[in-house]
Amino acid sequence: MAKFQSLDFYDIDSSLSDEDRLIRNTVREFVDNEFMPLVREYYRKGEFPDQLIPRIGELGLLGSNLNGYGCAGLGAIAYGLINQELERGDSGLRSFASVQGSLVMYPIHAFGSEEQKEAWLPRLAAGDAVGCFGLTEPDFGSNPGGMRTRAEKTSDGWLLNGAKMWITNGTLSDIAVVWARTEDGIRGFLVEKGTEGFETKAMHGKLSLRASATSELLFENCLIPESNMLPKTTGLGSALKCLTQARYGIAWGVLGAAMACYDEALNYAKGRVQFSGKPIASHQLVQEKLVYMLNEITKAQLLALQLGKLKDAGKANNAQVSLAKRNNVHIALETARLARQILGANGILDDYQAMRHLCNLETVITYEGTHDIHTLILGSEITGLPAFS
Ligand SMILES: Cc1cc2nc3c(=O)[nH]c(=O)nc-3n(C[C@H](O)[C@H](O)[C@H](O)COP(=O)(O)OP(=O)(O)OC[C@H]3O[C@@H](n4cnc5c(N)ncnc54)[C@H](O)[C@@H]3O)c2cc1C
Repeated sequence: MAKFQSLDFYDIDSSLSDEDRLIRNTVREFVDNEFMPLVREYYRKGEFPDQLIPRIGELGLLGSNLNGYGCAGLGAIAYGLINQELERGDSGLRSFASVQGSLVMYPIHAFGSEEQKEAWLPRLAAGDAVGCFGLTEPDFGSNPGGMRTRAEKTSDGWLLNGAKMWITNGTLSDIAVVWARTEDGIRGFLVEKGTEGFETKAMHGKLSLRASATSELLFENCLIPESNMLPKTTGLGSALKCLTQARYGIAWGVLGAAMACYDEALNYAKGRVQFSGKPIASHQLVQEKLVYMLNEITKAQLLALQLGKLKDAGKANNAQVSLAKRNNVHIALETARLARQILGANGILDDYQAMRHLCNLETVITYEGTHDIHTLILGSEITGLPAFS
């Protein structure tokens, strides 16, 4: 597989700090040297290469935008660049880090007790422990507020019953952040691996995000101590705050997948000769595809950069994050599809990256709010008229 180049038509590099550039280059090297040699094998097997988890922790890539408790305390742009470089490798790799950082460490950091933070955050940051986030249920995806999983207060703690589905990192996890309905509304709970009545099951048959563990979480009279409830969670809004963090990372991450596809298609088009003895890159229709990719990736990069600046200034709102997630995933998917076409029949082989990214991005456009749900979020934002139901 070709070494990565970098698409930076508007010299975004010049607006990054030295630290941001160093972090980006370090992650790029890690992905290039340590992940890429494994990705094809693991994608074929349908497994996440979990032997890399301690290394990902050692590089400081888990919860890197959180402060204290062994986290790197990086700014939003550096955090975005990490996601970009991880997803340049594979959406499964970025998903692993996104879930651990934004959906497990963030809620413990934002809504947890001091004891919970001290017990879990340093281990999760170091990659000594893995976490997952259980919100989606078999019958409640886009509308998680309808969830059926219940937590009943008992004299010994909380009794959980219900099922979660499509949970990234589930079977790998030492700790699950689980959202359940209580008498006082939806709350978040920490469920530890090995707790009686808690089972994880690997989901099979995925044709997308194959280098990622996707699981069911099952709770049958699962008793957890009172101290495992996230005390500052207040309804579904707390879960949605976690999603906003993860969606921000996705808006950057998919740029990496799109850039990898663009680089691959450009290289291929310059080398592949048909008809006149000239490379296919010399044909107008091929150039039109490459220019579309360049155009859309450049706009998406600028969107992510400005969103990062707003986030660092504490001014980014969830609708702005929705716009970036919606746009950037959409253009990444279009880019992957065009790249696959430019590669012709070779484009369906896993010797190349385009098809793998294309398949992965079908998940990314579905999870963390589907494309349509983000359209509805934005429609509601600008009209004041929610159209969800
Ligand atoms: C590989 C993978 C990993 C995942 N990881 C996690 C995880 O770690 N944790 C977790 O909790 N979840 C996870 N998810 C679940 C994901 O967030 C849900 O799949 C997503 O929210 C969509 O829900 P759904 O699949 O039930 O689709 P549905 O909600 O059934 O939607 C189906 C279709 O209907 C459309 N639709 C729904 N409602 C409306 C409406 N009101 N108006 C117009 N159109 C509508 C949707 O846009 C979509 O096109 C993961 C999913 C995948 C595929």
